[in-house]
Amino acid sequence: MIDVLVVGGGPAGLATAIRCAQAGLHVTVAEPRAAPIDKACGEGLMPAAVARLRAIGVEPPGLPLRGIRYLDPGHRADAHFRSGHGLGVRRTALHTALAQRAAALAIPVLPVRVTGLVQHADRVSAAGIEARYLVAADGLHSPIRRACALGAPPARHRRFGVRRHYRMAPWSDLVEVYWAPGAEAYVTPVADDLVGVAMLGAGRGDFDTRLAGFPALAQRLALAEPSGGDRGAGPLRQDVRRRVCANVLLVGDAAGYLDALTGEGISVALAQAAALAECLRAGRAADYEQAWRRVSRKSRLLTAGLLWFRHRRVLAPRIVPAAQTLPWLFTSIVNQVAGA
Ligand SMILES: Cc1cc2nc3c(=O)[nH]c(=O)nc-3n(C[C@H](O)[C@H](O)[C@H](O)COP(=O)(O)OP(=O)(O)OC[C@H]3O[C@@H](n4cnc5c(N)ncnc54)[C@H](O)[C@@H]3O)c2cc1C
Repeated sequence: MIDVLVVGGGPAGLATAIRCAQAGLHVTVAEPRAAPIDKACGEGLMPAAVARLRAIGVEPPGLPLRGIRYLDPGHRADAHFRSGHGLGVRRTALHTALAQRAAALAIPVLPVRVTGLVQHADRVSAAGIEARYLVAADGLHSPIRRACALGAPPARHRRFGVRRHYRMAPWSDLVEVYWAPGAEAYVTPVADDLVGVAMLGAGRGDFDTRLAGFPALAQRLALAEPSGGDRGAGPLRQDVRRRVCANVLLVGDAAGYLDALTGEGISVALAQAAALAECLRAGRAADYEQAWRRVSRKSRLLTAGLLWFRHRRVLAPRIVPAAQTLPWLFTSIVNQVAGA
């Protein structure tokens, strides 16, 4: 019997496995998708994410990010990171760096989709593996969360994301966030010749339909070649009743997600991974719920706050003007997110 079976080899799963191995636990990852794994993502790592990756010996290649810029047709506001830089990183490059670190720690990654589990008093059985603990890191729509009936009813506002890359030189070292009625476009430089664009908004709109809502951005991108296919995700908001069910624990998006609006999902997943491994190392799995709340609280408050304004018809158009008029407040909030 092993100590920990991690279901899902995305950033949360691999980081959890690495943390567990570093804590002396015998861990295995189940991930059915072939490496390197891609996913719909804005691909901007906050400074805290860069630091958390470095702490587990992971330094993915990417472009330094100096801060965040908000834009709408008549306004523009820049906020610079105060503590270190963020990183624009292709998801495939992030996955490769995490997978290499896991391999260096001799963590087995099995090409297995986990479809069910059996919980015993002292262990969990899944995919023919017996483990003291099972960690569900299986993403937004977590099959393990569903199997354990840990999900909450769907939220009222259903937002989705879709991402595309363009073969072109980045024009900024800030993540640009374009705001339009009911939608946002995130532009992240990820390589010297590659820019990622992630669209967020209500409904499952395709990329080109959404892009039409951002004429200035569409005009700039019209000069560039799209690279690779589009990837979508959603509904983004996933409410979860609790993160621990005896010896099954949830981490990353599987543990609950609000929105990609503030772009710190990976950063918070890395913090949760560290907290989870510490609880398992100490043999106190039940403490993880409290630890999860502690490391996720600031990010959830900031995201929920911005979403609240976003969903108000009168207030939403004032977000970028307010960021421009009150640069100290905008910079302060961005740096709270950057460190969350
Ligand atoms: C449009 C968009 C933009 C975003 N932008 C940013 C950003 O700029 N910065 C940021 O930090 N975050 C961003 N995020 C959030 C970020 O992508 C997620 O928070 C992050 O990917 C969560 O990692 P994860 O490992 O929990 O889940 P995932 O990355 O989804 O990984 C889950 C893994 O589980 C595997 N899996 C699923 N089912 C099973 C099963 N049954 N058995 C075994 N394995 C299984 C999947 O194959 C997958 O590899 C964005 C999200 C979206 C949708």
